[in-house]
Amino acid sequence: MSGIRINRFAGLLPSLLLSLFIVGLFIAGLLMTRVTQAKPLQLTEVAPDVYALIGPMEQRSAQNLANNANFGFIVTHDSVLLIDSGGTLLGAGDIESHIRTVTDKPIQLVINTGGQDHRWFGNRYFAEQGIRTLTSVKTQADQNARRNSQIESTSALTAASWAGTDPQPATAVVSETTELTIGGLQIELIPVGPAHTGGETLVWLPEHKVLFSGDLVYTGRMLGIGPQSQHRDWIAAFDTIRQLAPQVIVPGHGQPTDLSGAEKDTYDYLVFLRSEVGRLIDAGEEMSAVSRIDQSRFSYLEVYEQIHGRNAQQVFEQMEWE
Ligand SMILES: [Zn+2]
Repeated sequence: MSGIRINRFAGLLPSLLLSLFIVGLFIAGLLMTRVTQAKPLQLTEVAPDVYALIGPMEQRSAQNLANNANFGFIVTHDSVLLIDSGGTLLGAGDIESHIRTVTDKPIQLVINTGGQDHRWFGNRYFAEQGIRTLTSVKTQADQNARRNSQIESTSALTAASWAGTDPQPATAVVSETTELTIGGLQIELIPVGPAHTGGETLVWLPEHKVLFSGDLVYTGRMLGIGPQSQHRDWIAAFDTIRQLAPQVIVPGHGQPTDLSGAEKDTYDYLVFLRSEVGRLIDAGEEMSAVSRIDQSRFSYLEVYEQIHGRNAQQVFEQMEWE
């Protein structure tokens, strides 16, 4: 009898191992799914060796790692220049993994185009590799000012994917238009704004005529006007873009475009909204009247339904004090 028992127990061992193996496969499968879901960024070469990583136009989530925005990188003859570092630590790693599908060259510099989370929350990931982080004085001030409030909201929205994120503002700053040469490539950092936030920093490649505009330009998606936005100055900042005469603009959100595309989806909307709201204020109307503004001309833009009413309220609130 006891021999049989031993045999039965011995028979259990392989099936236990098999079960463990299956559970292991299941966990590995989950992890693989996670990795797959963590790669919604779409890689596009907008000029020779100049790449855009186009993020999804949805809210931050555990799946998109708060990389719901565009990023960019340029491969020079000896290194890589990265534009914006992602919305979480995991998001920063995801951006690097996309770069590694193109080149093994080291990243030499990270530029932050703005103070919104996805522009800089991944800085620490690169700083720990000894990579410099650079932005403008105004953008850095915005990063410092809104760090805690943005940590609160982004950590809640990204849940488990927030793990390890410790947002560090850029450590080096420029206060005016600054030319840099990196790996033989000439770039210009151009501080503008306040616009969408307290101060955006444009990255201009004069040889390629490519502009990384950060959140100064949105395409295909309705731009968001928040309490930190200054829409009158945002409109004025477009003059800087026009003077550059870019052939390609990589916007903060949406597909790469040209100047007329940027004007259609961003500039025209800002001008339209300010003139409509201005009319109501001149007529002595209350804020509630903004719901009567017919914004349907821009209803082709993604997230229109969720955002257009709030945008109008925000413009009204500010214009009352202009
Ligand atoms: Zn943004």
